[in-house]
Amino acid sequence: MTNQTSFPAGTILGYPRIGRRRELKKAVEAFWAGRIDAAELETTAAGLRSATRARLVELGLGQSDSSIPESFSFYDQVLDAAVTVGAIPTRFADLVGDDGRIDLAGYFTVARGEGARAPLEMTKWFDTNYHYLVPEIGPSTVFSLASDRLLDEFLEAKAEGYLTRPSIVGPVTLLLLSKPSDDAPEGFRPLDRLEELLPVYAELLAKLADAGAEWVQLDESALVSESIDVDRATTLEATRLAYAALTAGERPSIFVAAAYNSLDDALPVLVDSGVEAIGLDLVRGSLPTHVEHLGETVLVGGVVDGHNIWRGDLAAAYDKLEALGTLTFNVSVSSSTSLQHLPHDVTDESKLDPRLVSWLAFADQKVQQIATLAHGLSGGRVAIQSELDAATDALADRLAAPGVRDGDVRLREAALTEGDFARAAYADRLEAQEAALGLPFLPTTTIGSFPQTGDIRRARARFVKGELSAEEYTELMRAEIRRVVELQEEIGLDVLVHGEPERNDMVQYFAENLDGFAVTENGWVQSYGSRCTRPSILWGDVSRPAPITVDWSVYTQSLTPKPVKGMLTGPVTILAWSFVRDDQPLGETARQVAFALRDEIADLEAAGIGIVQVDEPALRELLPLKQRDQPSYLDWSVGSFKLATAGVRSETQIHTHLCYSEFGVVIDAIRELDADVTSIEAARSRMDVVHDIESSGFDHGVGPGVYDIHSPRVPSVDEVTELLEKALSAVPERQLWVNPDCGLKTRGYDETVESLKNVIEATNRVRTRV
Ligand code: GLN
Ligand code: ZN
Repeated sequence: MTNQTSFPAGTILGYPRIGRRRELKKAVEAFWAGRIDAAELETTAAGLRSATRARLVELGLGQSDSSIPESFSFYDQVLDAAVTVGAIPTRFADLVGDDGRIDLAGYFTVARGEGARAPLEMTKWFDTNYHYLVPEIGPSTVFSLASDRLLDEFLEAKAEGYLTRPSIVGPVTLLLLSKPSDDAPEGFRPLDRLEELLPVYAELLAKLADAGAEWVQLDESALVSESIDVDRATTLEATRLAYAALTAGERPSIFVAAAYNSLDDALPVLVDSGVEAIGLDLVRGSLPTHVEHLGETVLVGGVVDGHNIWRGDLAAAYDKLEALGTLTFNVSVSSSTSLQHLPHDVTDESKLDPRLVSWLAFADQKVQQIATLAHGLSGGRVAIQSELDAATDALADRLAAPGVRDGDVRLREAALTEGDFARAAYADRLEAQEAALGLPFLPTTTIGSFPQTGDIRRARARFVKGELSAEEYTELMRAEIRRVVELQEEIGLDVLVHGEPERNDMVQYFAENLDGFAVTENGWVQSYGSRCTRPSILWGDVSRPAPITVDWSVYTQSLTPKPVKGMLTGPVTILAWSFVRDDQPLGETARQVAFALRDEIADLEAAGIGIVQVDEPALRELLPLKQRDQPSYLDWSVGSFKLATAGVRSETQIHTHLCYSEFGVVIDAIRELDADVTSIEAARSRMDVVHDIESSGFDHGVGPGVYDIHSPRVPSVDEVTELLEKALSAVPERQLWVNPDCGLKTRGYDETVESLKNVIEATNRVRTRV
């Protein structure tokens, strides 16, 4: 059926699309604000795609061998796939034309919502900090080829003289990552619609072949995940069915890419399906030992880490390709995942220590590494020996550099005992805390941050530029803290916060104040849509040169007789949202961060702060995709939290905050954290999480959020009352706390004040009724 042309020797699964200077973010936001029109946005996007292709060739990929993937997206690749197959929820029906198509403005409306019309839900993409939009698919979803974008981008490249490789999320993954639409009956699964979906993919493939595409990439990473609610046998059968159908028609050669872990039992299914190439993640996943019926199938070894910024061990990567070569002659090399999780270019960093820079590889440098390895595949190890040696030398330099291993940190770790991880029995703590804090029934609090106003951001920017002295900056922040404290007192909250105005970001702030981290200038990575983060680089042993938050908390406490909650970010979250050293187990690094936090908490306690919250919103995100890897993860992640928090007296109350409502999935971990109070998201799911809390028998304090801070909408007193009553019907009243879903930093003051007032009024209402 297909005119087999060979797979390129080296490729990547995808490239950052936000632009070296976040040009896409800026253009998209300008379009949303009405400052530019769709045509202008399209022009910017085309320019970025064009620059990407040119850059990739410059870095060593082939111009006309299908090694350049077309992986652009205006917002999200899962949304793109859903739009391509016409899977738009009915609440957006008015945005869909007679031809079943949606324009760019409509596309963004599906992504972001509009007025009362909710956007697609957003959730984490595998075990990364990238968020995708969750398609909604039901029995009546009508599939049709409803977008030519992929085809157009291929033709756009062709017109520029490139033969590129269109790439799209594959049909099995698209359905596995979708959720049933609102009108779907109980028990319906999006995967049930596979047979009707396949002809649309087949039609797309035929069009691409017709346009001259030699290879197409279908991303099927859901096949590596065991955290998906469909049993494995069904998933494998769907895979068999899908690729039997797609290989049967007129089409380009098919490259199925599976990132983020091993395919395991899905690998033989793909091999037998007759797809021409299969991408294996050999960084997170392991090398298959034996594969039958490989025939001509190309195995594409994802040996260059797409998840991390280290230059790493290039010789070891080449060894893996050689090992893969014992299974088949048809070996190519690629990144383990799309490079979308990396910043563009390390040569764009002028302020990083050059020695650190020599240990790093951002997306562009990873492409160069791949080009090198590809050269090795054809010319043999000797052809690339000097590049391998250079990487080996850089790695040796890194491992021996001052700060990578710090004797004091190591000694402290060696002296750890069981006792360092345990607090007194919960019942004793509860009694001590009730006596010390004297909080009312249904205590009210917030998650930490208050709105980050333009004034705050401008003050920080001026301070960073040196236009404000440290004293001036501190005074501005203190003025903000005074306002926030006054406001909380006026509203009537019980446990106050300082509002976190001094923090640019809950992880970067700590990274900037701990030894062992470096911060980039241009190292932006897409988090979702136009939102980018700039992860810090955790390169050495972590320690705390001086107290970080103590002065702010002590100042805040001096302003009010009410208890002020100290606010820290936990070890797992600090690791999850940074680029972390890969030369030792994550658990070891987490323990070092935990020591620093433990000292910070001890200082807070000694300075009279009676409540400390340690946020761990990323606890769920890092949960390994394979069940076999989960126990050891839970062991070190929970262990690091306990090491950070277990040094305090019984009367000191430890809070934690988790950003999601999937309580059931991590209940064992939450229980083990042994925090006195845990706040979680609940408002968006209308408090359904309380049933999980009830059935788990969780008996510590818990604050299921009563106010959805992800939207500017103000919840009414009745609505909050109802949520609280629902919570009380499942959770014993002595356990229940009242708080919003998450921090308030992205909200405006007007809606925040109104919402919090309603929360307090509802709480007072419920207090008098119970
Ligand atoms: N304390 C942080 C805040 O309030 C928590 C943010 C988060 O959970 N993502 O902003
Ligand atoms: Zn949160």
